[in-house]
Amino acid sequence: MLLDRYKNQTRQKSSKKIYELIDRQYGIPKYFGTGADGYHSKLFENLNIEDRHIAELIKKEYERFSNCLQLTAAQNICSKAVLGALGSVLQNKTAEGSIENRLHGGCSVVNELEALAAERAKQAFGAQYANVQPHSGSIANLIVFKAILQPGDRILSLDFTQGGHTSHGGSDSLAESVYEVHHYVVEPTTYLFDYDKIYEKAKEVKPKLIICGASVYPRKIDFAKFRTIVDRVGAFLLADISHIAGLVIAGVHSSPIDFAHITTTSTYKSGGPRGGLILSGKEYQIPVETCSGKLPLFEAVERAVFPGVQGTPYFNNIAAKAVFFKEAVSEKYNLLQFKIVENAKKLSKELIEQGFDVLTGGTDNHMLLLKINNFRDNLNGIIARKALENCGIIIDSFSLPYQYQQNTAMGLRLGTQIVSKRGMGFEQMEIGAELIAKVLRQLRITGAEKFEHDQTAAEKIRQTVKDLCSRFALC
Ligand SMILES: *Cc1c(COP(=O)(O)O)cnc(C)c1O
Repeated sequence: MLLDRYKNQTRQKSSKKIYELIDRQYGIPKYFGTGADGYHSKLFENLNIEDRHIAELIKKEYERFSNCLQLTAAQNICSKAVLGALGSVLQNKTAEGSIENRLHGGCSVVNELEALAAERAKQAFGAQYANVQPHSGSIANLIVFKAILQPGDRILSLDFTQGGHTSHGGSDSLAESVYEVHHYVVEPTTYLFDYDKIYEKAKEVKPKLIICGASVYPRKIDFAKFRTIVDRVGAFLLADISHIAGLVIAGVHSSPIDFAHITTTSTYKSGGPRGGLILSGKEYQIPVETCSGKLPLFEAVERAVFPGVQGTPYFNNIAAKAVFFKEAVSEKYNLLQFKIVENAKKLSKELIEQGFDVLTGGTDNHMLLLKINNFRDNLNGIIARKALENCGIIIDSFSLPYQYQQNTAMGLRLGTQIVSKRGMGFEQMEIGAELIAKVLRQLRITGAEKFEHDQTAAEKIRQTVKDLCSRFALC
């Protein structure tokens, strides 16, 4: 309507009048003259006023999140400082290209910012090269493929149904349609890697790229062994540490940085903002064959970021990554990584005591996997996940290796990062295991995805979870 009015006015009035009309409609900018502090401090208040519906949904998600026992492995909580950088004026800056090679004007501040973020990433991970531009972990992997592979080249990775990530060339992924993807597996009885067998597979496939790193693997990954395999078959090694990046920073898991030619990670699973990161160690300058000739590895990566895969970087995310990398070298963060693993070990011990079948008998990292169908007849991952959620316990249902069935996950994947960050410890892990067992025992399973709760028992558990969560604030 307003637009129609403007159109009419345009026909009748001078442009000066139109500007006056716009000024009357929008008023003088509310935060004009208050500077960057004033502008940013009002952000949520502004959302409350301008878009109540979205503000309400955000508040609802906060309540849901904070009142539930969050035991998911692929999620974390970022700090308020990270949130501050995310919700900042940097979001408005467009600047395609690398720092030395922008296509846009007005980049002096974001150039400084991006260089600082990359420097902090290098420090946190002990890397020689860092690219902080990737929008996500999946995109970081695509960028690496673009940098070092030609269409039709062979990739050897862990299959999705075996615990790999879909961006490693899983079925229906973009990588699968561009490259020739082959998979290695975990052993059917131990669920661990047999590095000799992976070597045999690599000899047979002769890949140009081997990917290590998983989404469903609770034990340590031997990056040195992967490197030996890669050297023997003359391939590149990509380590995707999306799940364990925090543990790698703290030294709770060994680092792939100097074993792999390239390391990628998402930044949110370890407590940063959403986004991706590409790192390289001592070999960051080795020559790579690209469509524009031979380039040092890091330059091939830069060209693969832009114009290869992305347009403008998200500078608010890059600032938030920088904030996170600074937090990640603090003693507090490093101690938390130890606590996460200790809590995961404790939780798995308690779950075993409750009668659960924990894959590999425990964990070395933040993640534990339950073969949930072994707990009770007719129980599967979907029923378990939904029933637990009804009682305020959030866990992901997952297909475990050799249990893959279309549409029915037979397992659960749990993680301890969020509960640990909230300050929960061994006592709460014990209570958590008890509550999980209680929820799954009181169910009446009536179909493949159908069940009924014992309402009194479920209500009691819900209240216990809420009380427990109320003692451990989101921080
Ligand atoms: C989660 C995950 C990713 C994807 O990261 P996004 O930022 O969500 O795209 C990639 N690789 C592995 C191994 C992961 O677990």
